[in-house]
Amino acid sequence: MKLDTRAMRHLTAEDWRVLTAVEMGSKNHEIVPTPLIEKIARLKGGVSGVHKSISALAKVGLIARMKEAKYDGYRLSYGGLDYLALHTHAARKHVYSVGSRIGVGKESDIMIVADDKGTQKVLKIHRLGRISFRTVKTNRDYLRNRQSASWMYLSRLAAIKEYAFMQALREEGFPVPEPIAQSRHTIVMSLVDAPPMRQVSSVPDPAALYAELIALILRLARHGLIHGDFNEFNILIREDRADDQDPDSAITLTPILIDFPQMVSMDHPNAEMYFDRDVECIKRFFSRRFHFVSTTPGPFYKDAKKTVGRDGARRLDAVVEASGFTKKMAKDLEAAIREQEAKTKDDADGSGDSEDESDEEEEGDEERSGSEGGNDEPLVIGDRIVNTEAGLEKLTINDGT
Ligand code: ADP
Ligand code: MG
Repeated sequence: MKLDTRAMRHLTAEDWRVLTAVEMGSKNHEIVPTPLIEKIARLKGGVSGVHKSISALAKVGLIARMKEAKYDGYRLSYGGLDYLALHTHAARKHVYSVGSRIGVGKESDIMIVADDKGTQKVLKIHRLGRISFRTVKTNRDYLRNRQSASWMYLSRLAAIKEYAFMQALREEGFPVPEPIAQSRHTIVMSLVDAPPMRQVSSVPDPAALYAELIALILRLARHGLIHGDFNEFNILIREDRADDQDPDSAITLTPILIDFPQMVSMDHPNAEMYFDRDVECIKRFFSRRFHFVSTTPGPFYKDAKKTVGRDGARRLDAVVEASGFTKKMAKDLEAAIREQEAKTKDDADGSGDSEDESDEEEEGDEERSGSEGGNDEPLVIGDRIVNTEAGLEKLTINDGT
């Protein structure tokens, strides 16, 4: 689903208020009855004003009339939630314009945005309910509870969790983007001018980069964390030159870690599996892409486990829980993410792609990190990616204030 901001400039203050009313009503109603929308919006224009706004919002797809319901009512669409989130980011001056989409996954849209000074940032829109929740039988009980399965709730949880981890990691000095704001199912973060490792076809010293990535896994472990999706799509490789002016000066490569909704604690019942999977992912990628195989086995979970909290390392798993991301939220989100993983795997299996294929253009690319311009050519480090400045669209929000 693509974010389309075109209708935004035409919304009146009343339309915004009615849209907000539908959102508020959604907390307790799957389909929000029209009288409730009227009551919450309490517009000066009275009921006819509300109806006018409802029509305007429905016309541009921000809310949808639910005809099968026993009563007349509306539901917020993804577009409606996107608008509300953007409206909040704009009001707080974090976002002024919206540019092109740089990534689309099954679980998110990644957009370039800018503030009113022209500073580019990244808007990540979580879209967790995009898949249907009918695939995995084991989650049936959990899914029977509609509230827990709703796309709005789950996508918001993913954003809250990702933001909380990004903050905790950043504070601890980890190489992650700077978290700027979170609203509903979206986060705003700094734009990292670096390609994902997936696009890097060669590096001067694979052993050094490998060691750095393993060190990063172990550093996370000391702070009680496992990334859980530590792969070539979620590691951006930034190139720093010793001397900016001199193209022949030495380059250092710094991995920047992104994508945190699936992070787990080192105390998680399946921690060892997640830890091993992260390590394996890096080993496999380095062997295939850079033909580098480390002579050192491991690292192993049981050794890493002993280092949790060592030398006064702050338990970031605990920090995030204390920040308000509760166990219940974690459980709901985890069930949804696992289901999504299972679904993705089913799809990949079904398409006949096998995990062991050595072909670099392997399964799932499109879904994981497809780039709008089809610009997924491997990139030799040394060529900078240029982030598009074209097409930044001014966001006019007429909220009557
Ligand atoms: P998903 O959960 O869909 O995998 P990610 O957070 O991994 O979403 O982002 C998808 C892609 O978008 C990344 O692989 C990367 O290319 C790009 N991206 C995400 N965040 C940033 C950022 N802060 N700076 C630059 N590129 C980013
Ligand atoms: Mg990712």
